[in-house]
Amino acid sequence: MKNFINRSGVFTVMIISLFVFIRPCLLLAQTGNTLIKEKIQAALDEAYSKFKDVKEGKNADYIKELAQVDPKIFGIAIVMTDGQVYTKGDVQSMVSIQSVSKVFTMAKVIEEQGPKAVMDKIGVDATGMRFNSIVAVELQKGKEINPLVNPGAIAATSLVNGADSAAKWKSILNIHSEFAGRPLSLNIPVYISEAGDNLRNQAIAHLLLAYGRMYFDPVQATDIYTKQCAINVNAKDLATMAATLANGGVNPLTKKKVVTPETVMYTLPVMATAGLYDDSRIWYFGSGLPAKSGVGGGLLAVCPGKFGIAVVSPPLDAAGNSVKAQLVIKYVVEKLGVNPFLIQPK
Ligand code: GLN
Repeated sequence: MKNFINRSGVFTVMIISLFVFIRPCLLLAQTGNTLIKEKIQAALDEAYSKFKDVKEGKNADYIKELAQVDPKIFGIAIVMTDGQVYTKGDVQSMVSIQSVSKVFTMAKVIEEQGPKAVMDKIGVDATGMRFNSIVAVELQKGKEINPLVNPGAIAATSLVNGADSAAKWKSILNIHSEFAGRPLSLNIPVYISEAGDNLRNQAIAHLLLAYGRMYFDPVQATDIYTKQCAINVNAKDLATMAATLANGGVNPLTKKKVVTPETVMYTLPVMATAGLYDDSRIWYFGSGLPAKSGVGGGLLAVCPGKFGIAVVSPPLDAAGNSVKAQLVIKYVVEKLGVNPFLIQPK
């Protein structure tokens, strides 16, 4: 008996020391020695004060409701792959997710049908044109587009499994909620505002149908797409969604497996080449990070294996990307030295 107590005592001490000493060392090694807490928070604080008074940019107004959103909303969030959360500014106010949603519907289609289906039925080529370009569809007869511009995104929506429109929508809202780690909901005024005024997206969906590249009723697919764009999110939601991608498909806050690492592997390159519309290459050149913007003012970026970062600030530049969000994320990436292409020679 005494022997047993001795042995179990030794065992307990071993387990405790494993958690107390070894686990933090492993975590530190995983996140990279340079990413210490104070440094991350300091980078967010600095970026916030450096860019909070930037006046450039203007809210999107082609969707009438977006013009009414407070342009002063400004929030920054980082969610690490180990679940730590860092924030600065307003990370409570909600904006509509808009085009950022395209990432998660694309991931859903890859998850359900594989990367080849996305490549063959939609395309994974950057168009280099505006997100709602009809010319981009016409030039290649509906091919050589990608799921992160409107035509490819509406096609992706049409491909999501589900017997009818309601089932597809339920599945899309669900995958967004799983990525965010909480139940998300619809911004009804934004949905109504865009749904009543989306003839251009309807035209795109019909043109794709004419070329045999729309896989559900085009009117209903456009409607589901419009709903998905009107999902409400804040900066922390977007950072959590990005962190789930950074963490190979497992949400670091809920620990739930949302998609496979392979799905993430095929999602990130499309974000890298087409995440910021016709300015995608300028963005990638300056940050090295796969990212996605939306005309609601959200922008998220993925630092693979390390963290997800997101900023909400509605005023946009001419390409439709949040001005402050781009400045902040580039600044933080540089400060933390996390551009994946910054390689220190051995
Ligand atoms: N719902 C918007 C549209 O279809 C999304 C565009 C965007 O965020 N770039 O125009």
